[in-house]
Amino acid sequence: MSLPFDLRPNPHPRPTAEREAILAAPGFGVSFTDHMAVATWTGADGWHDSAVVPYGPFSLDPATAVLHYAQEIFEGLKAYKHADGSVWLFRPDQNAARLARSAHRLALPVLSEEDFLASIDALVAADVAWVPSAPASGASMPLDNEQSLYLRPFMFASEAFLGVRAAQRVTYCCIASPAGPYFARGVHPVSIWISTTYTRAAAGGMGAAKTGGNYAASLVAQQEAATHGCDQVMFADAAEHAYVEELGGMNVYLVTSDAELITPELSGSILEGVTRDSILSLAREFGLTPVERRIGVTELLEGIDSGWVAELFACGTAAVVTPIGTLKNEQGTHQVGSGQTGETTAALRKNLLDVQYGRAEDTHGWLRRVL
Ligand SMILES: *Cc1c(COP(=O)(O)O)cnc(C)c1O
Repeated sequence: MSLPFDLRPNPHPRPTAEREAILAAPGFGVSFTDHMAVATWTGADGWHDSAVVPYGPFSLDPATAVLHYAQEIFEGLKAYKHADGSVWLFRPDQNAARLARSAHRLALPVLSEEDFLASIDALVAADVAWVPSAPASGASMPLDNEQSLYLRPFMFASEAFLGVRAAQRVTYCCIASPAGPYFARGVHPVSIWISTTYTRAAAGGMGAAKTGGNYAASLVAQQEAATHGCDQVMFADAAEHAYVEELGGMNVYLVTSDAELITPELSGSILEGVTRDSILSLAREFGLTPVERRIGVTELLEGIDSGWVAELFACGTAAVVTPIGTLKNEQGTHQVGSGQTGETTAALRKNLLDVQYGRAEDTHGWLRRVL
């Protein structure tokens, strides 16, 4: 038996016209649905007080531990509406497993896969009117009109206590936000700054956990990228700044002229993306050899210049697959291929979206029906 997530309906849901106006142009992460799933954990009682309740603010004591020591973790996944009106999740078991691994690293309690899925099922059922319709299908379907309901499960230390130890009271919550394409101007190659000033994670640190602290560490580097005219930042390893790790919130892939699909191996300081893992599984269907290994920053830049690196892209749930057009560091700028979206990049992106939206057969058993 999973935790019960019974619905306490919002007495003041958004009027239909307002909801429809939001769904017509949802943006990303700016509007939220009428409900949220919540549960509380205490050292004495374990998980309890689970429910789907009206969306609204928390009331927090100023001494709440998370505000001081950042003991928190999160997840990100999407609910997709198919043409027949059914609603599906993509590999949510992977998000549940990663939340459990993140919980372990941050000394937070584990929420079982069953309870995690129950919270999401109940929230999506309560707010099904907020799941955007499937994009119009057909041969001319552009690659940048995907819409979904973005789900953000998170857990934080909610005990009011300034001592430094794992909190004995923890709050779990899942909120939902209708999402249009992550990049408002459509899928275009982004420019990336390789930072040698900052790192996001080191061996033994929290890099493999999905926790806000890693994002906090990435923000000043993102600002540094912007001052160099770049869209995003790429981090290298903390010890030598010599090996490619990932972007602030996306993993990285190289497509080589000898048909390898290479991504940095999981070093303990790289986040294990569900999209990264899915693309590794898809490689052979695209005639590519999947490779996980260390990639030198110099090797990458020289490979771009020689043409060995034919395509470069970033991947994650929010933006799916994002082509990288240029890499820049203190020494100069390197354009990948023609600087345009590569063929393999576009094909992988389309394949993932086609499976997620039910337009292609789910041969890997990745989809889980919610409604
Ligand atoms: C969430 C995240 C990713 C992408 O993971 P997905 O499961 O594919 O969404 C990559 N890197 C970081 C740092 C992340 O937080």
